[in-house]
Amino acid sequence: MKPCDVLIVGGGLAAMKSAVTAAKSGLQVHWIVKKKVCGGASFYPMMDQVACQVSTGVPEEDALYMEEILDASQGMASREMNQIYIDTIRDRVQEFPEIGVHDYHLTEAKVACFASRPRPTYVWRDWPAIRKNMRAIAADTPNLTLMENTALLGILTEEGAVSGALVMTPEGLDTIPCKAMVLATGGMGNLYQHNLNTPDVSGDGQAVALLAGAQCINLEFNQFIPGFVSPAYKTVWRETTMPYMDGLTDETGRDLLKDILPDDAQRKECLRLRGKHGPFTNRTLSRFFDIAMMKGILQKEGEVIGFGIRYAPEIAEDMSTYVHPYYLWLKQQHKLDLAKDEVFIAPFWHAANGGVKIDKDCSTTLPGLFAAGEVSGGIHGADRHGGHSTGSCLVFGYIAGNSAAAYAKEKQQAPVEDAGHAAQRLFKQEGSLTPQELLPQIRTLMFRKGNIIREEKSLLEAIDQLRQWQQDFGPYPYLHDPKGWEDAVKTRNFLLLGQALLTAMLNRKESRGSHYREDYPDTSPAYNKRFTLTWEDGKAVPREETA
Ligand SMILES: Cc1cc2nc3c(=O)[nH]c(=O)nc-3n(C[C@H](O)[C@H](O)[C@H](O)COP(=O)(O)OP(=O)(O)OC[C@H]3O[C@@H](n4cnc5c(N)ncnc54)[C@H](O)[C@@H]3O)c2cc1C
Repeated sequence: MKPCDVLIVGGGLAAMKSAVTAAKSGLQVHWIVKKKVCGGASFYPMMDQVACQVSTGVPEEDALYMEEILDASQGMASREMNQIYIDTIRDRVQEFPEIGVHDYHLTEAKVACFASRPRPTYVWRDWPAIRKNMRAIAADTPNLTLMENTALLGILTEEGAVSGALVMTPEGLDTIPCKAMVLATGGMGNLYQHNLNTPDVSGDGQAVALLAGAQCINLEFNQFIPGFVSPAYKTVWRETTMPYMDGLTDETGRDLLKDILPDDAQRKECLRLRGKHGPFTNRTLSRFFDIAMMKGILQKEGEVIGFGIRYAPEIAEDMSTYVHPYYLWLKQQHKLDLAKDEVFIAPFWHAANGGVKIDKDCSTTLPGLFAAGEVSGGIHGADRHGGHSTGSCLVFGYIAGNSAAAYAKEKQQAPVEDAGHAAQRLFKQEGSLTPQELLPQIRTLMFRKGNIIREEKSLLEAIDQLRQWQQDFGPYPYLHDPKGWEDAVKTRNFLLLGQALLTAMLNRKESRGSHYREDYPDTSPAYNKRFTLTWEDGKAVPREETA
């Protein structure tokens, strides 16, 4: 394929912002998206709206904002990068129309998950309209070439710097020579059996970056949120509905929390606190809500059927921004009336707080590789404020687009190997196991052993199992099969990324925010440090962060 200066990879908010920004440099920008643009977690179909938390611009207020972010992160977030967020997010939300988002608005100030004070919050909806607008913007930008249904399979390097990409196009394997690349491939939800991501969000960026020699950071911090097992599978549960529910029952009608918190006052306090944040955290008594569910799941083999919740009929009369549109949306889209129908929930993988390690200019440890959005790591810590992930896509997508363009301007295009040779080098390995056999097993294993409850023995067993499967899996033959390549690449990436995640979870022998170790339930000052992770000689290697 024709070379470009900057290659943008991904189709969510971070990629949209990076692509539009990089194109303003006048350089040739190619933009590849695995499926459709305006995809991924940014435009999750089982969600009514997304929100972004914004600073006020009042210095005293924003100083408190910073303290709250760092407090939630429990020392695991970058102060410097969050200062950039606070200083620039107000400008970035004003630029929404540049990426086709017109119908956005400021709601009443909201206390975001893990925050203490209300702050300005922008929300936006209507994914098909945004997609149409974004495609039109790309078509009107002569130096920006958008290629949908084109997936990144590998990062090519020359003399230790990015030189191009191995990609799968609708016509087959190809390479795209580039001087700089922005990874904006999102999180890794599909590594887990139950997750709140679309199938295209499968940790490709983290896996290929690790294979190319880049570092990841904070991989042990991932958000799990209760999701609907039935009805309306994969719908996100909104904690704002908590005031209308008062328990969690198993299939026999037994209240799960009563076993774990027999004291009624404590049980009520657990539920009250659980209504304040969507993702699990072990920092407050609310943790028992999620731990009770996970224990219930681990006690049984087989399908997860979820735990029953019933809402009080008054939920139908709550007209607030964070209940009413959700209530209506479920009713209209899914014929589900929360005021009447029972819902079954379980902990679903939701979002990554860590990822490919970036610096404040969004550069990674691999020269020429930049990253933004959920694929990247270092901005967020143990717990992340709600509304900060979409905001980070805008703030750091903008920086990544500018940084990649500035880097590319100074570079000459390095030579790039042909696609056949690159595919052999990156994918050739002998093995008899098939993606059809492996994918469901890997995803179940991750769901059971790398979920809310983690402990040494099962983490070690899981890593060992993934390693054994990896040694008997050869993805190469599937690359020439138009129906088989995607699952084969996923399997290759899951086997690697699963080991990386579980190793990071094993390495942190304490509990902190979203990371809960049943065998080390307390937070330990000895772990007031961040860990990076690299892939070396076929193994995940964690190290204390040095700079
Ligand atoms: C249900 C739900 C609700 C949420 N609500 C909020 C919220 O209200 N506020 C908030 O701040 N955050 C929220 N989040 C988190 C937030 O939405 C995401 O972290 C953020 O949108 C991620 O954006 P992204 O651009 O990094 O990745 P994504 O939006 O996930 O996009 C990733 C893109 O990369 C593409 N891709 C993947 N692999 C490849 C490849 N190999 N080659 C080419 N393309 C590839 C995918 O197709 C996809 O288009 C929510 C998440 C979920 C799941």
